[in-house]
Amino acid sequence: MQQAFCSRAAPAILDMSRTVKQRLSAVWARPDPILAEAGRAGELLVAKIRLGLAAFLLLIPIIDSVFFPLDKTETVVGFTLTSLTFLLSVIVYLAVSREYIPSWLSFATSCMDVTLVSGGLGLFLFMNEPYTAVNSKVVFEGYFLAIAGTSLRYDKRVCVTAGLLAFSEYLAIVSFTASHWDLNSPIYSPYPYGYFSWPSQVSRLIIMLTASALSLCVVARSQTLLQMATSDALTGLPNRGYVDERFAIELSRARRYEKPLTIAVIDVDRFKALNDTHGHPAGDRVLKRMASILRSSFRQSDTAGRYGGEEFVVILPETDMETAGRKLESLRESMAGTAMLTARGEEIRVTISAGLASYPEDGEGTSELFAAADDRMFQAKKEGRNRVWRTAARTAEVD
Ligand code: GH3
Ligand code: MG
Ligand code: MG
Repeated sequence: MQQAFCSRAAPAILDMSRTVKQRLSAVWARPDPILAEAGRAGELLVAKIRLGLAAFLLLIPIIDSVFFPLDKTETVVGFTLTSLTFLLSVIVYLAVSREYIPSWLSFATSCMDVTLVSGGLGLFLFMNEPYTAVNSKVVFEGYFLAIAGTSLRYDKRVCVTAGLLAFSEYLAIVSFTASHWDLNSPIYSPYPYGYFSWPSQVSRLIIMLTASALSLCVVARSQTLLQMATSDALTGLPNRGYVDERFAIELSRARRYEKPLTIAVIDVDRFKALNDTHGHPAGDRVLKRMASILRSSFRQSDTAGRYGGEEFVVILPETDMETAGRKLESLRESMAGTAMLTARGEEIRVTISAGLASYPEDGEGTSELFAAADDRMFQAKKEGRNRVWRTAARTAEVD
């Protein structure tokens, strides 16, 4: 019986561990390049909010010193912290307003936000005000602003990193403070924030983790919505809108890093005749098969999308004409060699024609490159179809 239980439990445990592994790798996955681009805009927005908030906070100790001139220590702490925050906010704003910002910057700025809050609490310890360090309300709430800001970076890895950092830093501050000071000693009477208690500190930590989980969910949901809005219903491939936007992103990256980039426009040959002979559903099956061959023929960094009808586009970053030509040629061969069956059991084969254009040889801009690849695809049709065309002139061809 024990053996039977083990033989049933073992695959279930294996399954569970596989699911956990998949979930973890999904959390730690790089964001989609289009979402990463939106994250860069979010980074700039957070930088503006941070700057505005820092300027506002800087006023508080100044006003404080005018109305409560006796409360010197808090004014000094407040002024030091807010001036430092303002200075850092200016530096970060300047860094993120440049045209290109590295992807690690979001990790750095969100960790900086969290650590600024911890630094604020730590300063109370330094000023010998441990009671305020672990009970402060306004400074502590800064963690939630930092955590909420991570969702605007549209990167789940940033949400996890900043959330765990906030949790660890606050736990370290509370543990250190509670072990070095008697926080319920009469010297802190009349306890403006109430008695110090671990259950309320644990609640704070749990709420902090919940806030991080929520910002992670916002990012995951955005990813799902992006995917829904940008995929083609029939084939599941990225649609034209996505391909256009991705092409612009990849081309600007190619320009920046001085790398080649090739675009391929692919069209199924005599597709109308196939529809007319075998029916529309058979045509749909061919398009789906074409999509699955496209998916398995290119790298993850390449983008293969359905541009409309029976036309597909592939963007190949860091790929020159020679390499892209070989890849497209092998795609053409595998399409031509694939026999497909209609629902009625009839065997059909289709061929494709493709045109290629490469950055920088064939153009500098997206429309120029796209037009060149499209012209060459038509040239391939004129030359008899089932071929890959790489040059503008009729003198050179591949096949
Ligand atoms: P060529 O070799 O010159 O490209 O000829 P073609 O027949 O492929 O080109 P044409 O543009 O005349 O025909 C494209 C056809 O694709 C017409 C249209 O009915 C069909 N089509 C477009 N979208 C779909 C679709 O989603 N499903 C199916 N089954 N057919 C589609
Ligand atoms: Mg066609
Ligand atoms: Mg067409």
